[in-house]
Amino acid sequence: MRSDVARFDLVVPVTLADALRLIDESGGAYKPLAGGTDVMVLLASGKLSHARFVDLWGLPELRGIEVSADAVTFGALTTYTDVQRHHVLAREYPMLAQAGSETGGVAIQNRGTIGGNIANASPAADSPPALLAYGAEVELESVRGRRRVDYAAFHTGYKTTVMAANEVITRVRMPRARQDRIHFYRKVGPRRAQAISKVCFAACAELGAANAVPVLGSHGATVRDVKIALGGVAPIVVRAHEVERTLLERGIGPAAGSSARNALARCIAPIDDVRSTARYRQRVAENLLDDLLRRLRANVGLAP
Ligand SMILES: Cc1cc2nc3c(=O)[nH]c(=O)nc-3n(C[C@H](O)[C@H](O)[C@H](O)COP(=O)(O)OP(=O)(O)OC[C@H]3O[C@@H](n4cnc5c(N)ncnc54)[C@H](O)[C@@H]3O)c2cc1C
Repeated sequence: MRSDVARFDLVVPVTLADALRLIDESGGAYKPLAGGTDVMVLLASGKLSHARFVDLWGLPELRGIEVSADAVTFGALTTYTDVQRHHVLAREYPMLAQAGSETGGVAIQNRGTIGGNIANASPAADSPPALLAYGAEVELESVRGRRRVDYAAFHTGYKTTVMAANEVITRVRMPRARQDRIHFYRKVGPRRAQAISKVCFAACAELGAANAVPVLGSHGATVRDVKIALGGVAPIVVRAHEVERTLLERGIGPAAGSSARNALARCIAPIDDVRSTARYRQRVAENLLDDLLRRLRANVGLAP
């Protein structure tokens, strides 16, 4: 049943300090509203659990994309369209730009924010695997001050996070990395567009001989660094640390494939739900890992 909007209260603060004060003084009863693309769906379906909102959309403190020598930092209100249009984000973090281009349609991309995607904490969301693979940090702020949280530690369970009731996400920071890293992002859903992910797979890797065992006798076939993150296969987005270790130790040759698959099975815990089955998700995740390995091999001229 649709919600009656007359039951809701929306405050539009002028500054971030005003917003934080209101949230704090209300004991967290006021919740942030950013682009509203998740909140409005719940409102329309009568499932919104809160009735008081503070509108962050007009706050300049939560906008802007800053590029420094060692990181790119962007405001929580950065939209999917902003990510796709920003030349450094699009060039150096193409998985985030791809996640943006595959999130909803253009209207959602113009309005939906990365901060909202993170705070909404859906394990099937599309930007979190990219953020996790890129080693993002999330900045949280309340009237008591600021703190930075490694994004890997942000989600604590299904739809739960380390964010306190009086905190908002203000910025997201991603370290810059070598230009020659390989990015691999795949969203698998029921359709190519306007679909919620069944499985989302994000990986970035640097290949080379340095600090790696030359398993295949080929310099280019070893893995110097790799980060793999998946969505839709556990209560939270997960880093596949064991798969990463396998690839670092064994390289990317065909022999590494089955060990990596076994390691992947230990990193994920897919479930049956309305969108898919655990078996399908498991199989898709394994196939995407195979695709990643093929892509890495192709990159150094090895047979698939
Ligand atoms: C038609 C449609 C298609 C969609 N497709 C996709 C898709 O393909 N992939 C995908 O991942 N998502 C999708 N979504 C979900 C949604 O668009 C994203 O999750 C979006 O990023 C949410 O951002 P928002 O700014 O609109 O959040 P809002 O709706 O404003 O807020 C969402 C939640 O986050 C909290 N919040 C927002 N900003 C902050 C902040 N700065 N600090 C603390 N808490 C905050 C709010 O209190 C609320 O609980 C879709 C939604 C719709 C309606």
